[in-house]
Amino acid sequence: MRKAAVGATVICAAAVCAAAAVVVRQRMKSSSKWARAMAILKELDEKCETPLGKLRQVADAMTVEMHAGLASEGGSKLKMLISYVDNLPTGDEHGLFYALDLGGTNFRVLRVKLGGKEKGVVQQEFDEVSIPPELMVGTSEELFDYIAAALAKFVATEGEGLHPEPNRQRELGFTFSFPVKQTSIASGTLIRWTKGFSIEDTVGEDVVAELTKAMKRKGVDMRVTALVNDTVGTLAGGRYTKGNVIAAVILGTGTNAAYVERASAIPKWHGPLPRSGEMVINMEWGNFRSSHLPLTEYDIALDEESLNPGEQIYEKMISGMYLGEMVRRVLCKMAEEASFFGDTVPPKLKTPFILRTPDMSAMHHDTSPDLKVVASKLKDVLGIPNTSLKVRKVIVDICDIIASRGACLSAAGILGIIKKLGKDALKQGENQKSVIALDGGLFEHYAKFRECMEDSLKELLGDEIADTIVVEHSNDGSGIGAALLAASHSQYLEEEES
Ligand code: ADP
Ligand code: MG
Repeated sequence: MRKAAVGATVICAAAVCAAAAVVVRQRMKSSSKWARAMAILKELDEKCETPLGKLRQVADAMTVEMHAGLASEGGSKLKMLISYVDNLPTGDEHGLFYALDLGGTNFRVLRVKLGGKEKGVVQQEFDEVSIPPELMVGTSEELFDYIAAALAKFVATEGEGLHPEPNRQRELGFTFSFPVKQTSIASGTLIRWTKGFSIEDTVGEDVVAELTKAMKRKGVDMRVTALVNDTVGTLAGGRYTKGNVIAAVILGTGTNAAYVERASAIPKWHGPLPRSGEMVINMEWGNFRSSHLPLTEYDIALDEESLNPGEQIYEKMISGMYLGEMVRRVLCKMAEEASFFGDTVPPKLKTPFILRTPDMSAMHHDTSPDLKVVASKLKDVLGIPNTSLKVRKVIVDICDIIASRGACLSAAGILGIIKKLGKDALKQGENQKSVIALDGGLFEHYAKFRECMEDSLKELLGDEIADTIVVEHSNDGSGIGAALLAASHSQYLEEEES
């Protein structure tokens, strides 16, 4: 009995010791796991660094690529596409015009009534329609039929005073924000899809012809008089309302830029173009890449697993489609290698693109002391309940690192354009400010991103030059801009002038 009791005590003591050892081991394990997580964070931070010197190198590389892309076909990752827009809106445009803006997850149809110099945009109406994901990877006919059907519905709602003049066909500016090889102001063939679209039978086709066929099928009597993309549209819209716009940059689902080039700087191989005056160039800068870009293992994996590996590298580091996904990838590594969310990797965290940039932005802007927005996003979006404050703080840090890198790199790109135009130095006698028109959901809604981009650009330019450059949000410039370009390229223009 006694023996047994002693034995039991011994067993008990051994069990206590073992339990204590487990606790100690677990503590050690959890502290070493935390250290591992911190090491991953630190490495991310270092790899994503964008000191001014690096940003200047990126800007210089952008300028060099701009020259190279203009100089010869295929001379650069930057396509530097001629937009055929050499007459930006003057303000004289008048009449009813339509625009259709397709470039991401939603498309918009709008109509505006233009009243010339005195009245400007008299009236405008729009409708926004989301694109079902299956249509983004289906056939050309399905996608364009869907768009034309929405357009037909919108045309049917023309209200009082918003009808075309008698015996006139409705005219449309088509904002199509994918790389297009333009063949005239109102025609162009698709080079490739981006931003999650992949519809093989459209590549190489004239997108205006595709739309026109679909409009016919859906009974819409309308003529496309201008084919542009969102950057060119934003630039045109900016010129109309904001004066001396020299470039437009889109930071939305994707990213791109257009700028106004001296026609005399455009080499002859581009074809029979006016060699005097101005020409808007669509850079397709999303495809920029340079050895100076701070690429991480996450960028490389994201690219390899994307629909367009090797392409749009700059876009994948900057734009709204990818920022949230980058954060997810970092969290995934922390979960796998440092048990950041417990012993198992939360299954939802393994789903690509589940963490969208608006969710990332909401977490990044969380100012509550206990970071309750972060907690609720983790729970609702990633299915991770009960996180500690310490963990949530790390998540905000990751958002900050990824967003700041994107913002600084976009500022460097803008500096590249400013340099190409020679506006990075003060010129005697020039006192008109240059405007860069910015648009896109990322720029509009992600305040920390926007502030960081603007601060970084100021810093890169220096105070004196920064005073001569204005960054302006051109709210929905692209839609209005396309309608304005439809107007300035109207089939009835000559008739009116004569
Ligand atoms: P698109 O580029 O598709 O034409 P937008 O310019 O409206 O459309 O941009 C939409 C993109 O903007 C979204 O894909 C998203 O990445 C980003 N975005 C929208 N809202 C927010 C937000 N609140 N915070 C951060 N990013 C946002
Ligand atoms: Mg857009």
